[in-house]
Amino acid sequence: MENPELCQQLVDTTRATIKSGLNQGASGNLSVRVNDGFLITPSGLPHEKMSAEDIVFMNLEGKHEGNLKPSSEWRFHRDIYLHRKDAGAVLHAHPTACTTLACLHQEIPAFHYMVALAGGNNIRCAPYAVFGSQALSDHAIKALENRKACLLANHGMLCLDKNLEKVFALATEVENLAQIYMQVLQTGDPIILNDEEMNLVQEKFTDYQKQNQ
Ligand code: 13P
Ligand code: ZN
Repeated sequence: MENPELCQQLVDTTRATIKSGLNQGASGNLSVRVNDGFLITPSGLPHEKMSAEDIVFMNLEGKHEGNLKPSSEWRFHRDIYLHRKDAGAVLHAHPTACTTLACLHQEIPAFHYMVALAGGNNIRCAPYAVFGSQALSDHAIKALENRKACLLANHGMLCLDKNLEKVFALATEVENLAQIYMQVLQTGDPIILNDEEMNLVQEKFTDYQKQNQ
């Protein structure tokens, strides 16, 4: 097995997505970049039953090694690593609030300053395409332009970040924002922060996050 420690970290983070409620059963998938490709969770295996030996290595041409099949979503994982130098890990999940908004094809606008954490003034919703397809990956890559998170219509959410720890934290925050946004919509009309305010938040984040680099 290559990188046993990293494979174990991938399994631990996958289990954490179940514990935190980001995923249920076998939904969602997770990967981490390695030198010549990436390590990814296998397809259809419940996260609790997964062990480090089950993790699949795949190169950037989409060829995998080992007996288990890689996640059916390997295309968007592969395409993110190809297109995004800033991606060290990719997390896909079906959490309740993000998925609810995604089923309405609604983006998350700048209703709260923390939306800037995903890299811009909104968290877009990529158009629907069937799971595992190249069309879904193409839509996701577009929705992730200058962003680290997006929703996937009628499906769930997708995040990228430098490493497993950061991508898990980002996914948790995005789901939390989606929950608050839904409550705001139930309570009244959200007041959206303008681009100037959101750019200011981005500037402040650059400094604020230095401790966490
Ligand atoms: P996999 O088990 O193949 O990763 O599929 C789960 C999923 O969420 C598909 O979109
Ligand atoms: Zn999915």
